[in-house]
Amino acid sequence: MKNSGYYSQFGGAFIPEILVQTFDELESAYLAARDDDSFWAEYLELMSTYSCRATPISRLDNLTKELGGATIYVKREDLNHTGAHKANNVMGQGLLTKRMGKKRVIAETGAGQHGVATATMAAKFGFDCTIYMGALDVERQRPNVFWMEQMGAEVVAVKEGSQTLKDAINEAFRDWVTNMDDTHYVLGTACGPHPFPEMVSWFQSIIGTEARAQMLETTGKLPSRVYACVGGGSNAMGIFSGFLDDKEVELVGVEAGGRGRGSGQHAARLAYDDATIGVAQGYKTFFLQNTDGQMQETHSVSAGLDYVGVSPILSHFHETGQVRFEAATDDAVVAAMQRTVRREGLIPALETSHAFAQAYLEAPNMSPDENILVNMSGRADKDIFTVADAVHDPKWKEFIISKADAYRQEMNNA
Ligand SMILES: *Cc1c(COP(=O)(O)O)cnc(C)c1O
Repeated sequence: MKNSGYYSQFGGAFIPEILVQTFDELESAYLAARDDDSFWAEYLELMSTYSCRATPISRLDNLTKELGGATIYVKREDLNHTGAHKANNVMGQGLLTKRMGKKRVIAETGAGQHGVATATMAAKFGFDCTIYMGALDVERQRPNVFWMEQMGAEVVAVKEGSQTLKDAINEAFRDWVTNMDDTHYVLGTACGPHPFPEMVSWFQSIIGTEARAQMLETTGKLPSRVYACVGGGSNAMGIFSGFLDDKEVELVGVEAGGRGRGSGQHAARLAYDDATIGVAQGYKTFFLQNTDGQMQETHSVSAGLDYVGVSPILSHFHETGQVRFEAATDDAVVAAMQRTVRREGLIPALETSHAFAQAYLEAPNMSPDENILVNMSGRADKDIFTVADAVHDPKWKEFIISKADAYRQEMNNA
């Protein structure tokens, strides 16, 4: 056990002996990259030519008028390649993999978004790529699995345990132990053993650095509040990073409230009081677990926020009060998404819509002199099945049925 990578009592690296050297190597490569200005310059060049950076900020004129309080601005991470902030992390880790001389990457994925982003990076850099995904998630997320395989990744359906994200994480670590010499594990969020929380936050800090400068340039001042949704915590860490020294800016993290406080069906580790401090998956943080340390089932309409743990850095900020944590329920989230689509023509992912829901709740009570900034972590193309279900769109159902009928005929004729 090492002493670095702690944020008050949270974080650390609780890893098997056999991986200690691999983590040391990763930490050294990461620290050397941080000290090397040419690394960040190469990263900026890559992100500007491959992933639409710098992403703009957009002002929501219609909703600002309708809500009648603070002016709402949005940081457009949805414009990244593959549709979310995840590109910032995987491209950064891709450059680091190259620097370490490794030729293969592996990753875990739940909803499949991180798997698609990693497979994209591997295709571009010419790495071999294996993605671990719970067998249940493979069934539920066929479109993402399809693209991963098209990009040349091998998708392994993990049939252990609950056949979801946590089982995929265990399997990815097992692979790493066997193949650490030539393989880098591209962890998907600001969680896990040190140096991942810090390293992922560093790559994502590109969001906050841009956003702070853009708000100053556009409005002449800093926003009063900055909102981000919180799954593992990487997009939140990314945008918050730009404002950590600005005491006048309030930072608000919004978790998955699912079916609400007290329902036992949510993934609010910090906003509700159900989570306790523990060590799992190689790090110490607040987990939704029972008194025996067994992980609980979580629930959210958005797969990307449906996780038992949370970034140790955010647990630390929760305790110090540097970030305020709230939770938005599934119903509020779907309503906020529909409202944003209808009134602004922006299509926020269900994850992202948690941040919008909280911002819309608070904006009317603020002064028209104030600005708020919402991190639009991603777009909702991937959510079309879930959203069409939630809004009971009959034409969508007809479309799916006619597709299924056509496939059935094709198979019968074959
Ligand atoms: C994956 C994902 C998230 C959740 O991950 P964080 O690490 O908490 O940022 C949020 N929004 C979108 C669009 C995602 O794809």
